[in-house]
Amino acid sequence: MTRGIYFAGHNAIEEEPNMKIIMLGAPGAGKGTQAKKIAAKYNIPHIATGDIFRANLKEGTELGKKAKEYMDQGLLVPDELVVDIVVDRLKKLETGYVLDGFPRTIPQAEAHTAILKKVGKKMDYVLEINVPDENIIKRMSGRRVCLNCGASYHLEYNPPKTENVCDECGNELVLRIDDAAETVKKRLQIYHDQTQPLIDFYSGTGVLRTVDGTLEIEEVFQNIVKILGE
Ligand code: ADP
Ligand code: ADP
Ligand code: ZN
Repeated sequence: MTRGIYFAGHNAIEEEPNMKIIMLGAPGAGKGTQAKKIAAKYNIPHIATGDIFRANLKEGTELGKKAKEYMDQGLLVPDELVVDIVVDRLKKLETGYVLDGFPRTIPQAEAHTAILKKVGKKMDYVLEINVPDENIIKRMSGRRVCLNCGASYHLEYNPPKTENVCDECGNELVLRIDDAAETVKKRLQIYHDQTQPLIDFYSGTGVLRTVDGTLEIEEVFQNIVKILGE
């Protein structure tokens, strides 16, 4: 099968469904916003562990209930609950993917590297979206999300076309419980302690790229597209 093998330069990459990308960045850095745009442009699935947990919670599954105990407090869900779900999804995939919110700890990153190794594949890019903590708190208070499709909006920076209604699927938009300012501060602390070490983990492998996440959504995306077209 030759699907996805094109050699005609930058534009051809748009038809390349094999790109494997990890989004890294603090909560609220814009990982989900950019991952959705990447997924649409490069025709790859967007896998967001937070969305998976929230969907499970909505459906009332055991996993959803367990995850909620951690999520509402701004804590990470234990690795053993996260890794199996992601491994399971990736095993079924024949295309590339954009991972958003995973890995978040060194053991998760090691588990992910091990799956890739097993099938003889490697990451293409780890995109770090860099946003200082000061900007994050303001972003989170204005964030509104769709629990049906995972789209996220901002009251000021990225409002939906109709107030409180998802542009993508028409569902109602909500404020996440864990986006309360106190919980956001805790999540930022956990990000620095447990997730930021992944920057070192990946920087030695040559796939890490950092983008300035304080620019406007469309500008950040254009910078990402430039990187992915390298
Ligand atoms: P954000 O978009 O703010 O970065 P996510 O939607 O990715 O947040 O995740 C929300 C919450 O879900 C996290 O605070 C954490 O409790 C849980 N979670 C999501 N992904 C993971 C993961 N890979 N490991 C542990 N917990 C996770
Ligand atoms: P993450 O997935 O990293 O937690 P989101 O993509 O959900 O982050 O974005 C967090 C909030 O910030 C959302 O309300 C989103 O609309 C908004 N946002 C995302 N990117 C930008 C940006 N470049 N400038 C301003 N606001 C942004
Ligand atoms: Zn939606």
